Amino acid sequence: MSLTFHSEAGLAKDSSLLPAPSAQLSLTEGVRPFPGLASLFSLWHRASFARGIHPDAHKDKLSDPIRHMPFPSKLVLPLAQHIGKPSLPLVTVGEEVMRGQPIASADGAMSVPIHAPADGVVEAITLMPTARGTWTESIVLRVYEASTQEVRWSNPQDVESLGPQQLIAAVQDCGMVGLGGATFPSHAKLNVPEQHPIHTLIVNGCECEPYLTCDYKLMRERPQDLIAGTRIAMRAVGAARAIIGVEDNKLDALEALRPHLPADGSITARAVATKYPQGAEKMLIKSLLGVDVPAGGLPMHLGIVVNNVGTLALLGRLMPAGQGLIERVVTLAGPGIKKPGDYWIPLGTTLRSVLEWAGEPSCTDREIILGGPMMGQAVTSLDVPVTKGTSGILVFDKRMLDPITRNSWACIHCGECVNACPMGLNPTQLGMLAAKREYDEMSDQFHLGDCFECGCCTYVCPSHIPLVQQFKAAKAFLRERKPL
Ligand code: SF4
Ligand code: SF4
Repeated sequence: MSLTFHSEAGLAKDSSLLPAPSAQLSLTEGVRPFPGLASLFSLWHRASFARGIHPDAHKDKLSDPIRHMPFPSKLVLPLAQHIGKPSLPLVTVGEEVMRGQPIASADGAMSVPIHAPADGVVEAITLMPTARGTWTESIVLRVYEASTQEVRWSNPQDVESLGPQQLIAAVQDCGMVGLGGATFPSHAKLNVPEQHPIHTLIVNGCECEPYLTCDYKLMRERPQDLIAGTRIAMRAVGAARAIIGVEDNKLDALEALRPHLPADGSITARAVATKYPQGAEKMLIKSLLGVDVPAGGLPMHLGIVVNNVGTLALLGRLMPAGQGLIERVVTLAGPGIKKPGDYWIPLGTTLRSVLEWAGEPSCTDREIILGGPMMGQAVTSLDVPVTKGTSGILVFDKRMLDPITRNSWACIHCGECVNACPMGLNPTQLGMLAAKREYDEMSDQFHLGDCFECGCCTYVCPSHIPLVQQFKAAKAFLRERKPL
């Protein structure tokens, strides 16, 4: 097994677990492509973007279905689980709540409500730790032992009868955010200004991060929900067509979708090359439509909106039922996990609860990553909860890490980082400027703002220079002073 991290905490350089950068097309490890038309199709059509990398996939447990994790005794629900203003509590300490009930409302247009993931009683509304390292006001819920999977609060609606603005309001009522990790409120993304008419909705089913399989499982197990959510999003933005992009190491997911695609061709599914970061918006647009989103521009400026498959599959399931987002599929993986797989986990479940239930007891010195190993977040506190943006919990054993590879060496000007950067940036130059804290020059002359922190440069650097960590620090410094 091999892996590199480049999380916020600077764990990226654990190249003891690092695959050879030259491991071309090794992402098919453990994948059983469907030997049908899609496989043949992919042989002559490998839609892709320039540069990028091929980390080992480590996508195990592919044949296992999604299962439910039991309710923990306590849930911690931060009011800020999304980009934008935190939600406003609707409940008070001591109040009983039922599964599905709204317990916090949206505070304005860039905010979403929060719903109770279980029957229980509000134990506290207080500051609690989050993955970002900060403490955030949170609703702490003591879960009743008798709480069941039944959602006891709902408001069923005829989605077909809703107009675009009503659809957008209903999306907000669901509390939906980008489940790929971005946590941007979904209703705000679908509420496109009139001056940018949308022709195409792209549905991102790439899941290019190693280890993660939650989107793959949803495509395979819930294709009807995904198509229903795709139709909702198309109507909300006014798009005439939708294209579901799936990496060609998940052709069985593509085959699972095909019978559910409408006969009129308005929704199609296409294989794209298996390559990291194929799931980045700009990369997927390039692969599927052959166009570049200009620097500083947004997909909507080209008439395109991109949504994650997990987001749309949940929308397709929740909106007709008039229910809120109370659980999500999370991939549990890594040597520190005894029960690896994909699970419906109630939002607010702490890492302590997850690891007590699914952790490997012999793994006592853990490295924990929320999300994927390339762009995820390292966490140290077990009191951090699963939130709307948590796609994976990866647990590694620190004893597997080689301390030598955590050292950095001088740049040898090999150019590997330049060859890997999907944005066509010059990470070498940016790295040298970062070392000298020349942040303004990084931004003004070398387009630091175009770096979306994919970590390809760090991954390939033979000198183990923590390039992406330097770029994050530079951007944080500049953000303090002015927007990039
Ligand atoms: S410079 Fe930024 S966008 Fe380019 S490879 Fe490095 S992290 Fe990715
Ligand atoms: S990959 Fe590392 S060593 Fe090579 S040019 Fe880039 S920063 Fe320098």
